[in-house]
Amino acid sequence: MDKLSYDVIVIGAGSTGENVADRAVKGGLTAAIIESDLVGGECSYRACMPSKALLRPGVALEEARSVAGAREAITGKLNVAAAFKRRDFFVSNWNDSGQVKWLRQGKIQLMRGEGRLVGERRVSVTDSEGRITYLRARQAVAICTGSEPVIPDISGLTAARPWTSREATSANMAPRRLAILGGGVVACEMATLWKQLGTEEVTLLQRGDRLLPKCEPLVGEFLQAAFERGRISVLLNTSVRQVNRQADGAVRIALSSGETRLADQILVATGRQPRTAELGLETVSLKAGSWLEVDDSMRVKKVAGGWLYAAGDVNHRALLTHMGKYQARVCGDVIAARARGDADATTPEPWSRYFSTADGCAVPQVIFTNPEVAAVGWTEAEAKARGINARVVDYDLGRLAGAALYADGYDGKGRAVIDQDRGVLVGMTLVGPAVGELIHAATIAIVGSIPISKLWHAVPAYPTISEIWLRLLEAADL
Ligand SMILES: Cc1cc2nc3c(=O)[nH]c(=O)nc-3n(C[C@H](O)[C@H](O)[C@H](O)COP(=O)(O)OP(=O)(O)OC[C@H]3O[C@@H](n4cnc5c(N)ncnc54)[C@H](O)[C@@H]3O)c2cc1C
Repeated sequence: MDKLSYDVIVIGAGSTGENVADRAVKGGLTAAIIESDLVGGECSYRACMPSKALLRPGVALEEARSVAGAREAITGKLNVAAAFKRRDFFVSNWNDSGQVKWLRQGKIQLMRGEGRLVGERRVSVTDSEGRITYLRARQAVAICTGSEPVIPDISGLTAARPWTSREATSANMAPRRLAILGGGVVACEMATLWKQLGTEEVTLLQRGDRLLPKCEPLVGEFLQAAFERGRISVLLNTSVRQVNRQADGAVRIALSSGETRLADQILVATGRQPRTAELGLETVSLKAGSWLEVDDSMRVKKVAGGWLYAAGDVNHRALLTHMGKYQARVCGDVIAARARGDADATTPEPWSRYFSTADGCAVPQVIFTNPEVAAVGWTEAEAKARGINARVVDYDLGRLAGAALYADGYDGKGRAVIDQDRGVLVGMTLVGPAVGELIHAATIAIVGSIPISKLWHAVPAYPTISEIWLRLLEAADL
């Protein structure tokens, strides 16, 4: 039986796992990382990168079309083949040699295969030929195995060979008719993307009563109207009862309303589940297939000895690449600090580098629909549910000179949520063209707890869309 030992063993070399290992090595430890698929994980090859590479050409074209003078210069249509080629470039043709090189340069030992816990601090790696290597972690094991799509239990759905986000970001041809189950971020981005790439009929089948239900309600309403103008159909309060892939290849979808829809492809975007079913969690008294609940230093709760950590999607705190990487920096640094006996790392304080503070109050997200959505912090409902004495101020972005200059007929909305007792911003939501680049200012205001009376002196340049800050503060009576 092989038994190699490293200070830290990371299972899963997605964006999170890579960064845990990197920070641990930079902190003076040795690290091995285990990957069963592509080094770089979902974000690099099957999620963020391919989707954003494919979305950008359509948005760029529409932005040019929205400016008189530029509009007249556009004589052709979107070149779909070139858009796919752009996507292939951004995913390095699904070849991970660049990221493997990065691991090597970072002195991180890569082991290809399925990683599995086999007891306290012990991990097995089964390679593609079934050979098993046993590893031992001197300090810690970090689980960074991410999440995978949930396929709901709907009669006929699995047999209909639906797309998940993986197929939807790697396909090379637009289906003529695409039905999408769901109304969250992935569903809305994919509806935008495939409409731009030539799908004639895109239909969102959303069980709930609005799109993007985790955002401020104004976002779902605004986006739905934009989708309908762009000939994307949205059916709310709609469940799917049965799915059938017919002999002619079409998918027949029976809805709760009694209506039936036909599509050439069906995409399931109904949420994520943890990738922990085959991870040997039961060998350390955890439940196979569960999300891994962690404390603020990424240590898995309910495991004695404090040697097991989990970062990224798998801990269910914030299923976003940048938040996974933030948690990874906390996780790698705290493991190294605890190994050194650094007192600050024993019971870390909020806002220290060993405490994943932003997870609890300042998670920024950009949704790359057209128009874009950007949000950080609490919505009004979330703030009130936390007992915050919240005041909401709204402003139409289209009234800003910078927005009107940015695009003819610019339309968008901004909402700030202010904690009246502390006099600080606790949430911001923007929807409109190009708002994604604006949200970081709000993240800084929230993380810094900058009094809004002081934000008044952060004067936005004229004429930019950033003047939303001035208008929101005026609306808040400053
Ligand atoms: C369509 C789509 C678009 C998205 N767009 C964005 C975006 O624009 N911005 C954003 O911030 N987030 C986006 N996300 C979310 C983002 O992709 C995830 O939050 C991120 O990839 C999570 O990183 P991770 O490292 O935790 O997990 P993953 O990236 O899933 O990495 C986990 C790795 O572990 C490996 N693994 C799993 N089990 C084992 C095992 N037993 N042994 C060895 N290896 C194993 C997997 O092969 C994988 O490589 C998007 C998600 C989707 C689905």
